[in-house]
Amino acid sequence: MHRMLRIVLALLCGAASVRGQGADGGNTWNTLAAPAMDPTKFAVTENVEIARDRVHIKLVSGNIQFAKPANGVVFAAVFRGEGIVMVDPPNPTEAQQLKLFTRQERLAASFSEATFTFSDGLMEEVEKQVKWKDGPGGDDFYARRQQEREDIGGEYLPRIFKSVMSADHKRTAYFLADLKTKEAGWIQVRDDAMQPEEIRVGRWMSVGPFKLADYWMIFPAGGRDPRHVYDDPAERQDFLLPSYKINAFVSEGAELGATANVTVNPRYAGERVLLFELDSNLRLSSVKDEKGNSLEFHQARERKENSQSYGDYAAVVLNEPTQTGQAQILSFVYQGRHVVYRVGDGNYFCKSFGWYPSAFASELGVDEFAFRSDFELNFRSPKKYILVATGHKAGETTDGKESVTTWKSEIPIAAAGFAFGDYKVVTDKVGDVEIQVYANNQPDDLLKSIQRHFDDPLSDLAAGPGGSHASTQGAVGILTASALGKTINMEAGNSLKVFQNYFGPYPYKQLAITNIIGSYGQGWPGLLYLGWFTFLDSTQRNALGIRNQTEMTDFFRGHESSHQWWGHRVGWKSYHDQWLSEGFAEFSGLLYVQYRENMKESLTQWRLDKQHLAEADLNSLKTETLGPIWMGRRIRSSVTNPGSYQNLIYTKGGYVLQMLRMQLMDARNPDPDHLFKEMMQDYCKTFDNKPASTEDFKAIVEKHMTRSMDLDGNHKMDWFFNEYVYGTERPQYQFHATVTDAPDGKISVSATLERAGVPGNWKDVVPMYVHVGAKVQRLGTIAATHDKETVNFVIPQKIDKLTINEYEDLIADVRQQ
Ligand SMILES: [Zn+2]
Repeated sequence: MHRMLRIVLALLCGAASVRGQGADGGNTWNTLAAPAMDPTKFAVTENVEIARDRVHIKLVSGNIQFAKPANGVVFAAVFRGEGIVMVDPPNPTEAQQLKLFTRQERLAASFSEATFTFSDGLMEEVEKQVKWKDGPGGDDFYARRQQEREDIGGEYLPRIFKSVMSADHKRTAYFLADLKTKEAGWIQVRDDAMQPEEIRVGRWMSVGPFKLADYWMIFPAGGRDPRHVYDDPAERQDFLLPSYKINAFVSEGAELGATANVTVNPRYAGERVLLFELDSNLRLSSVKDEKGNSLEFHQARERKENSQSYGDYAAVVLNEPTQTGQAQILSFVYQGRHVVYRVGDGNYFCKSFGWYPSAFASELGVDEFAFRSDFELNFRSPKKYILVATGHKAGETTDGKESVTTWKSEIPIAAAGFAFGDYKVVTDKVGDVEIQVYANNQPDDLLKSIQRHFDDPLSDLAAGPGGSHASTQGAVGILTASALGKTINMEAGNSLKVFQNYFGPYPYKQLAITNIIGSYGQGWPGLLYLGWFTFLDSTQRNALGIRNQTEMTDFFRGHESSHQWWGHRVGWKSYHDQWLSEGFAEFSGLLYVQYRENMKESLTQWRLDKQHLAEADLNSLKTETLGPIWMGRRIRSSVTNPGSYQNLIYTKGGYVLQMLRMQLMDARNPDPDHLFKEMMQDYCKTFDNKPASTEDFKAIVEKHMTRSMDLDGNHKMDWFFNEYVYGTERPQYQFHATVTDAPDGKISVSATLERAGVPGNWKDVVPMYVHVGAKVQRLGTIAATHDKETVNFVIPQKIDKLTINEYEDLIADVRQQ
């Protein structure tokens, strides 16, 4: 989506602390934000050791002071002096990332100031190594630093609130060291027992007006296998959200308000604080439990329009601690602007996420698309407009100037959404699926400004290639989406046919498509947003100077509609697995180009993609060397180009699937793709409405692999995944074949395949093709397990030449004659 242009029990201190029922969350929250330092917990430090898994922090000299407890838990400390932090990367992948950010093989940094935020017994650990003495009382260093963390959108406060209020300090254990280093400014080292990858090291960086987290290393503690820690994405989730009933309104003035009744199913007992994600533009007025009791809640302060968010969370304090498996319904009431935007007459843009409370997932970890919920949505919207939402329309009435519609999901879905506006609706059917196009009757503001340029005889845009200012309105016409409603309907139908053939059934009863401002696309289950340019005709796109028309139209629509399979039908477990969504969508876009246009055009686009991968990123690095596609969103950082994440995860992810398709090609079958289709349909069926991980997909590939793919002779695809999914390298191949007439009238072929640029144990399956006149036929594959392979054979038929890589079969540089 988003195509184009995420242990020790603390010391109970004194009689004043109140635990469990009746604990005052509000006071706790304020104390956590601005703690009072404890004058009796001050110490001079001399080589004090703090160890968290592979993280070693040493307070060489200086002093440390702890804060007074909140809810009975000592949770904060400040340090001034001389300290060092050292972290040994646990594996080559993390070592590569650390080096990318710091140029260091192992992290070693010295710091002069630090704050510690914790619920894991840091004070007891330090207490054994120091002697308490009297210290100052009025130090606001921690509070100031906490404020700075919040100013950049760091959601640390709700997380420590959760732990301090929990009865289970082991399961919710949290540790954050915020260290002011000489080399890299403030860096954060975190150990979070609620995350499958507990250890994280990184820092916040300014990118334009916003702050972005650079993740130097993220890995599981205890030497666990990072490829399998997300196998059960629900394992460390605090709760699941099986169902929603949302009564919402949207106004002509682009305001959104809602009462969201959310069924919460706690997975663990003893939790007082539940953390949700909610756009901070939406301000909560109340949160109530099932009995109608008002609950305490905390949100980050409201952001200014288009400015940095201070955190998009809602921390809700229950009156009673949770009991495992005892579901309850929480009722959230909220309202706000800047979640729906008015972008022209009758044109509205509705943000895809954050408009209802979902599970708190502000950090890279388990993905929101790993879970599914039932949704019932009731909307009140201006009667003069049309509203469309996820699910099927279960009711529609009018009430004065408003229309009231009800939408119910047919199966549990990962995300719910809606769009509304002054639409013209065109409906059609592909098999049992109803396709509805909702196209705006009026151009949006962007389209309007472009139109003004065209209509202005002196504007540059109106000037043709020869600089003439002849009447251009005739050529461009009126720029509205609605004129193309029928075409879009047909095109969407075409893409569904191709994807159903390759991937299996479309998961919903209808597909609604609506235009959106700008060059952007986003899909909800059964509801698709597509950028306006895809609704324009080719003359209009030409006039706008859009060069790669295929990318802007067939590819883009194919990519976005395929997310109904990649993301919605099959979700993904963690940020490591996002390529299973975006890479597969990229592949699907180019597959659609092959069918809608032709093979040649799709191969042209594949080659462009391969070029993107080798393009120079910042610091003279090639995009494909920034990290493996398994890194997911970690590729988007202050040391990479803004487009590199997409160029890597989307593009290489798509290429990985293309390589597998080519390895599975069965040239002797009337449908050469039949093995690939069987594999993809099995994948969709096995993970139907469930999330998959990279390793899950690998297991499916191993189930369907052919003998020629079994290069290790163990029926495993480790060689392929290690190289292309978990690796960053690209081989260079040189192929040379000679064709000579043998004495018996047969043809003798001798070929050599040489490889460079990768380690000696590299392996590839390289398909070979024979050319007879204009005809190209697949002959077989070379198991390229050595740097040099030679192939000699005799064939009965005359051929013109022998080649490799005819269908962009390899992520490799290929030279051949
Ligand atoms: Zn996408």
